[in-house]
Amino acid sequence: MRKGFHRLAVVESTTVGKGTRVWAFAHVMKGACVGARCNLGEGVFIESGVVLGDDVTVKNGVALYDGVTVADEAFLGPHAVFTNDLRPRSGRFKRPPSKFAATNVGRGATIGANATVVCGHDVGAYAMVAAGAVVTKDVPPYALYAGVPARRVGFVCACGEKLPQSLRCSCKRRYRRSGAGLVAVAARGPTSP
Ligand SMILES: [Zn+2]
Repeated sequence: MRKGFHRLAVVESTTVGKGTRVWAFAHVMKGACVGARCNLGEGVFIESGVVLGDDVTVKNGVALYDGVTVADEAFLGPHAVFTNDLRPRSGRFKRPPSKFAATNVGRGATIGANATVVCGHDVGAYAMVAAGAVVTKDVPPYALYAGVPARRVGFVCACGEKLPQSLRCSCKRRYRRSGAGLVAVAARGPTSP
């Protein structure tokens, strides 16, 4: 077993980036694409069509099904739920995978513990979904969504702090409104998200 993979992990994929750690009882199916320096917690399941970027954290008990894509530095909290079929049926009315809906989690976004992301929606870059929320529509970049169904209750900085009305964070990052979300405003000197 490769260094960083627990001996009780089942890693069938050959495309797992350097430095990625896989804890016990996690299962990464053949064909799944996992970037570098990810951390896949205990009991994580990753289906064959899933794509994870670099530096993604997937906490214990999260299952990612075909159609889910997760960008770099995203954080998926413990037992967050993802789906891939908007009209799930079994038996005679079971739908083919071609009818499944995609879910994209943007760069640096956070999905809180036990939150549910109903498929067919995008969670924007650096957005934050609160614990237990149920996402039923797209979440704009830097938006803070909470509740069932989830609604916007504010905006957050890339650093994770809730932003004041001024959209200036104590960490010096600044933002302006753009569509339903925010974009970072370049400050003097080197900028990072
Ligand atoms: Zn900040």
